[in-house]
Amino acid sequence: MAATTEGLTAAVRGRVVERGDAGYDEARALYNAMIDKHPAAIAYCVDEGDVSAAIGFARERGLRIAVRSGGHNGGGLGSVDDGLVIDLSQMNTVTVDEAARLARVGGGTLLKDMIGVLHQSGLTVPVGVIGTTGVGGLTLGGGVGHLTRGMGLTIDNLVAATVVLADGSVVQCDAEREPDLFWAIRGGGGNFGIVTQFSFRCHPLTDVLAGPVMYSLDDTHDVLQWYRDFLPAAPEDLGGFISMMSVPPGPPFPEELHLRKVCAIVWTQTGGEETPALREARSFGAPLLDGIAPMPFPVWNTAFDAMFPPGEQWYWRGEFFDSLPDGAIEQHAAHAAELPTWKSLMHFYPCDGAASRVGNDETAWAYRDAKWSQVVAGVSPDAADAARITTWTKAYSDALKPYAMAGGYSNFEMDEPSRVHGMYGSNYDRLARIKAHYDPENVFQVNQNIKPAA
Ligand SMILES: Cc1cc2nc3c(=O)[nH]c(=O)nc-3n(C[C@H](O)[C@H](O)[C@H](O)COP(=O)(O)OP(=O)(O)OC[C@H]3O[C@@H](n4cnc5c(N)ncnc54)[C@H](O)[C@@H]3O)c2cc1C
Repeated sequence: MAATTEGLTAAVRGRVVERGDAGYDEARALYNAMIDKHPAAIAYCVDEGDVSAAIGFARERGLRIAVRSGGHNGGGLGSVDDGLVIDLSQMNTVTVDEAARLARVGGGTLLKDMIGVLHQSGLTVPVGVIGTTGVGGLTLGGGVGHLTRGMGLTIDNLVAATVVLADGSVVQCDAEREPDLFWAIRGGGGNFGIVTQFSFRCHPLTDVLAGPVMYSLDDTHDVLQWYRDFLPAAPEDLGGFISMMSVPPGPPFPEELHLRKVCAIVWTQTGGEETPALREARSFGAPLLDGIAPMPFPVWNTAFDAMFPPGEQWYWRGEFFDSLPDGAIEQHAAHAAELPTWKSLMHFYPCDGAASRVGNDETAWAYRDAKWSQVVAGVSPDAADAARITTWTKAYSDALKPYAMAGGYSNFEMDEPSRVHGMYGSNYDRLARIKAHYDPENVFQVNQNIKPAA
């Protein structure tokens, strides 16, 4: 195997870690410890030239390429057995043009770093809820989070990108330049090239009023029935996702609630003042705990990081929903009662509001008519739990299937090729044609892979 990567160190300027080198195990580690891949080498590229050289090197030697931004992908699609990992973590610069409210963000930046830099300018971009996730994978898949209702998906705020293509050339894409490519990378994943820089339109935001309101699992029916009517009618500066979860066994949660299974709504109100809608939400039912507090947005957007460190077992599945009927609620109550570990969860993220004012065919994200993006995730620090959390996740997700739309969000899936078509839905065929134009040989295939159209 060493022979196939010989010369890589000379070909790229960034650090290279090959199989057998000191530090190889740390370098190949992914967020999800359920995935254990052994690449031939990892190249920590420092700029577009390096990325281009790494692609050329791999292609000449027939090495499969994986691209890694934050390494958070559930299915481990940021790595590849016996191939070359092009790691972008050194390309993590964030520059802000305050006057234009534009941010230029390196393709390997972590969400927490981007949010932290933007905060200093009183700005933000809507992203996912865990700070250690990579901007790369999250954005290319779509990007759902606390601010989606008011500010749209992450891709709805993407105005341009620098992309290294399969032939090593570097292109800029936006609404005018390479418009098909720009369309495809907004939801079509890493299928079309390696994005070395994202340009985002930013929103003014400093503080939020945010936190979980937790109810007894026995109240699941009442809470979800109320929520399904309340939230879609609420102002869009209020976000709130359902979390079927266990109360974490530590501060700041009261000891008497530790490890209790609950039905929670995790609220985010932009701005520091309580609005009438949030007041109404907080006065619903008889919560066990109201943890809402004012805080700077970067604190909130990293609040779950410590609970979900890298190196644990994850198995998850995503589905989209355009409604939440009583039959679905019954399944939520039943499966949440069987949470296999205290870290396992179901999150039901709203993707209405600003995200739903974009057409299904305006970007590659094909589910603008969905109101919610659901993820069921079995999570455990213990490898011995792998089978148990997988079985529970599949059973929960399967039970909701009759109420779900045709597919799930690509970023909430494992590496299960039979589910790929559904992720892109009605946009699959157009994506396959664009793939055939930009990557006819399917050089970028370690992703939720779209096969080039014939
Ligand atoms: C704990 C946790 C919480 C999450 N929360 C959310 C959430 O709130 N909202 C949400 O939308 N998603 C969320 N996700 C899902 C997340 O968006 C995906 O796992 C995503 O793939 C992670 O991106 P990454 O860059 O960290 O992953 P990586 O494993 O580095 O990459 C994932 C995929 O993207 C491709 N890719 C990455 N960067 C680039 C690039 N610059 N150019 C081309 N291709 C690239 C890779 O090739 C790979 O196929 C969460 C994931 C985890 C593990």
